[in-house]
Amino acid sequence: VGPAGRPAAVVTGGSRGIGRGIVLALARAGYDVVVNYASNAEAAAEVGKEVEALGGRAHLVRADVSVEADRRHLIDEATAAYGRLDLLVSNAGVAPNVRADLLEAGEESFDRLIGINLKGPYFLIQLAARTMIAQQEAGRVERPKIVIISSISAYTASVNRGDYCVAKAGLAMTAQLYAARLAEHGINVYEVRPGIIETDMTGPVKARYDDLILNQGLTPIRRWGQPDDVGRAVVAVATDLLPFSTGQVIDVDGGFHLR
Ligand code: NDP
Repeated sequence: VGPAGRPAAVVTGGSRGIGRGIVLALARAGYDVVVNYASNAEAAAEVGKEVEALGGRAHLVRADVSVEADRRHLIDEATAAYGRLDLLVSNAGVAPNVRADLLEAGEESFDRLIGINLKGPYFLIQLAARTMIAQQEAGRVERPKIVIISSISAYTASVNRGDYCVAKAGLAMTAQLYAARLAEHGINVYEVRPGIIETDMTGPVKARYDDLILNQGLTPIRRWGQPDDVGRAVVAVATDLLPFSTGQVIDVDGGFHLR
C-alpha cells in the first residue's frame, strides 16, 4: 500500500497534441496533473477544464523547458500544488522551424531545437529525480516514475532534419542513463517512442501522409496514431504494470519499426 491520496504527475507540453492525450489518460487513471505549456495559455486552460470534468485536479504552469529558471519553477509549482511528484512525463518538443539539408543546416536553429528537445529534458529530469528521491525518503511517494517521449526519429535518419533526429536519439540515451542511475532508488524510467501521431505538429504533412499511412502501409496498422494511444502507454508504465522493466523502450507506432 502506497502513500494515501491521489498521485501527482507533471506533463510537459500538456496543452496540446500528445501531451494533452497523456494528461487526459492520466486524469482518467486517477492522477492530479500539472499541465505545462510554453505560450498557449488558452489551450492549457481547456485541458484543465477537461481534467476537472474527469474528476481530477489540474494545475497549469507556463514554463519553457529550455530555460533553467522555468524548469525549477515547474517542479516547485508541482510540489507546492500537490505536495508530491509521482510521475514526470517529459513530452514537450518542437519540430524544426525550417527543414534544411544536412550540408546546409545552420547552428542557430540547431541550438534552439536541442535546447528544447534534449538539453531541457535532460536537466528537467535531473531536477525531478532529485525531488523524487527526497520525497521517497520522506515517505511522500512510492516508486515514482519518469517517462520520456522520444520518437521513431531516434533511429530514422531524416537528412533534412538532422537536429530533430539527433535530439531524439539523445533522449533515447537519456532514458538509458537515468534508468541506470535511478534503479537503486526504485525509480523506473521508460522511453515511450511514438510513431506518426495526428497532432498540430504533423498537420503540415497530413495530406501527404494520409496516402502513405492509409494505403501504402508506412504505418503497418493502417491508421494515424492518436494522442490517446500514447496516453495509454504512459498510464501502463506509470501505474507499475512493468515493475521489473526499466530503461525499456515502448514503441507506440502501429508497427512502424517493423518495416
Ligand atoms: P504539438 O506541436 O502538437 O504540441 C507541442 C506541445 O509542446 C505543446 O503543448 C507546446 O506548448 C509544448 N511546447 C513546445 N515548446 C515548449 C517549450 N519550450 N517548453 C514547454 N513546452 C513546450 O506536438 P506533438 O504533440 O505532436 O508532440 C509532442 C512530443 O511528441 C514532442 O516531443 C514530439 O517531438 C513527439 N513526437 C511527436 C510525433 C508526432 O507524430 N506528432 C511523433 C513522435 C514524437 P504550447 O501549447 O504552449 O505551444
